[in-house]
Amino acid sequence: MDDRDLKADSYVSRHLELGQSTLTDQLKRELGDLAKPVREVDFSQPGEVTLKKGAIEWKFYHEDLDVETMLALADIAKFGYMPFGIRLIKSFSMVNTKSGARMELSDILSRDVILAFDSRPSSEPMTDAASVGTNHIILSNPLTVPKSVFVLLHEAGHFNDFKARVYGKIFDDTQDSFPISNSEAAELLRRERNASAFALTKIRPFIDDDGPFTESTLRYFVHHESLHSHSKSIADKLTRK
Ligand SMILES: [Zn+2]
Repeated sequence: MDDRDLKADSYVSRHLELGQSTLTDQLKRELGDLAKPVREVDFSQPGEVTLKKGAIEWKFYHEDLDVETMLALADIAKFGYMPFGIRLIKSFSMVNTKSGARMELSDILSRDVILAFDSRPSSEPMTDAASVGTNHIILSNPLTVPKSVFVLLHEAGHFNDFKARVYGKIFDDTQDSFPISNSEAAELLRRERNASAFALTKIRPFIDDDGPFTESTLRYFVHHESLHSHSKSIADKLTRK
């Protein structure tokens, strides 16, 4: 590549970034970072894991599941079998080293909620799930993935939803008979919007331009990924026989 080609190439790439969709490219990169582990961790032994990205630091302690919890989680996540690599989370905390803002697990979730994540790398797709009725949360990604931290806040939001707590069990049980009614659909959507609003409120002190949680990334994630996929699933439940 001679000097002129090099200039043209650099001109084009600059233009593509600026002209076509500077924000989209940046957003794509940020969303990519949000969804991948900050670093690889061996989860085969119990232990504390500390992560740092930009000014944000978080840590958690993970350990093995007992069989009873494993069965309950298999039921909630609708595995149909008991996968290995599911880890129990015993503690979680996060700090913004710029502002000093802190969060403890007890700030978002009561102690009786059993929290677990799937540590298997690129395992078969599993969904994040919360059962308000039985006090369980299962995350489809380890907390080494920033997105999983945000999903934890979303799932915790379901437990802080008074209406969902009161009617949780009854509603959870009727949800599997199809098609659901319009009011059930509205309630499902309300719950998801409510849980995401809770998550956005709680993550706010940890939003930083250097990531991993940026305003634009979280907004995109909530509206175009999370609520979008919930909307599709709700639409499906409305028509499914
Ligand atoms: Zn949800």
